[in-house]
Amino acid sequence: QVIYLNGKYVTKEEAVVSVYDHGFLYGDGIFEGIRVYGGNIFKCREHLDRLYDSAKSIMLDIPLTQEEMEQALIETIRLNALPDGYIRLIVSRGTGNLGLDPRRCPVASVIIIVEQLAIYPVEAYLNGLKTVSVSTARNIPNALNPKIKSLNYLNNILVKIQANLADVGEAIMLNAQGYVAEGSSDNIFIVKKGTIYTPPCYIGALEGITRAAIMELAEQYGYKLKEEPFTLHDVYVADEVFFTGTAAEVIAVREVDGRVIGSGQAGPVTTHLMEEFRKIVFVDGVQ
Ligand code: PMP
Repeated sequence: QVIYLNGKYVTKEEAVVSVYDHGFLYGDGIFEGIRVYGGNIFKCREHLDRLYDSAKSIMLDIPLTQEEMEQALIETIRLNALPDGYIRLIVSRGTGNLGLDPRRCPVASVIIIVEQLAIYPVEAYLNGLKTVSVSTARNIPNALNPKIKSLNYLNNILVKIQANLADVGEAIMLNAQGYVAEGSSDNIFIVKKGTIYTPPCYIGALEGITRAAIMELAEQYGYKLKEEPFTLHDVYVADEVFFTGTAAEVIAVREVDGRVIGSGQAGPVTTHLMEEFRKIVFVDGVQ
């Protein structure tokens, strides 16, 4: 395995960062999870736009242009000879001292890891996931604005712990007002009487790239689509519920907090969108 680390291609063992890196000390940094399908980097521009927007928002200077970053991604994939995989791109504030001050970190650390993806078992895609809702509120104020894909994932990890305790694959996060926000690392959609709903991102959800792709497909195939806040009640009584995300792609939910959703299997809208999504991943990317 070859890892990109600050301009060099190194082995897994050599790929180490300083204990003074503020990404480690404070979670000061940003990241992207990106898929490669058949040698195509899926939605590369969208991921890099989100990364560079996150960087600008937190005043983090990425020492590569977007074009150079794309080349580094392509080269890392090539060196790993992995045409189907998952890319983790991390930019942290870099090595500083124990103080918070980012001015002590002159250069950001840039890391690209390409790996085979361990996703949910095939069974989960056929029958849907069981999930629970959790009260850990998605942080919405400025510092942890969900639009910034920051390394601060403690909230999401607490959600994941609750999902583990309930022995389910993913959990639904509510925002401070109790509205449904998203999963620990996926966006959420519900389908009711033929209309597809997803929470607006201001509720406290990441502007997911898979979410955007699914919304585009939904419109293309003539579904009624509404971006509006909804509650757990709406989830419980939905005909279909599904998650979207780079790693999970599109995955149905068959049970939420013990309530069986619809028929208890992946519904027709979810199945259709899942199929259409699988078709675009091979064409809609950077070679
Ligand atoms: N929400 C959160 C909190 C996430 O970490 C992710 C995964 N990046 C998503 C949603 C899904 O976003 P995307 O489709 O861009 O992977």
